[in-house]
Amino acid sequence: MPDATFTRPDLTTFTRLDGLGLEVTGQLLEPDRSLLACRVVEPDDWCRRCGCQGVPRDTVSRELAHEPFGWRPSTLVLTVRRYRCKECSHVWRQDTTAAAPPRAKISRAGLRWGLVGIVVGHLSMARVAEGLGVAWNTANDAVLAEGRRLLIEDPTRLDGVKVVGVDEHVWRHTRRVTSTSP
Ligand SMILES: [Zn+2]
Repeated sequence: MPDATFTRPDLTTFTRLDGLGLEVTGQLLEPDRSLLACRVVEPDDWCRRCGCQGVPRDTVSRELAHEPFGWRPSTLVLTVRRYRCKECSHVWRQDTTAAAPPRAKISRAGLRWGLVGIVVGHLSMARVAEGLGVAWNTANDAVLAEGRRLLIEDPTRLDGVKVVGVDEHVWRHTRRVTSTSP
């Protein structure tokens, strides 16, 4: 790679969190997993109800399973700011839907990793769950839903993939995993 241009090492871009509206603020590396502390980049401090600027009230924590790095599950620990409106007293928290849908346990990048693992890498759902560091049911429900969303409802999202074939492939893997040990 004689013409390669290197940039400064940056954990946020390396872990692809810039695309999820997050920035890494800390890491905790354990032998079998890693935790990444993250903050939400966009302040999101304007009141959704009356449009006035809110004041920071406190923070809440949200954990998301992320794609694994080095065969080690990565968990995101988001610090999410809560604001209170000075005018109408409305309280809200920073929007984290770029990172994951509401109430989801797996980041969008983690879901994508799982889906590509199943469809392209022929991983078992058990292996995907292990990579994400979540229960089998959690991985199965979320990855299949993501597969339906990406491959069925919007077939143009993964170019060159046959929609029906991929869907059958996902389900075939699922059945195999449930009936035999991975
Ligand atoms: Zn307000």
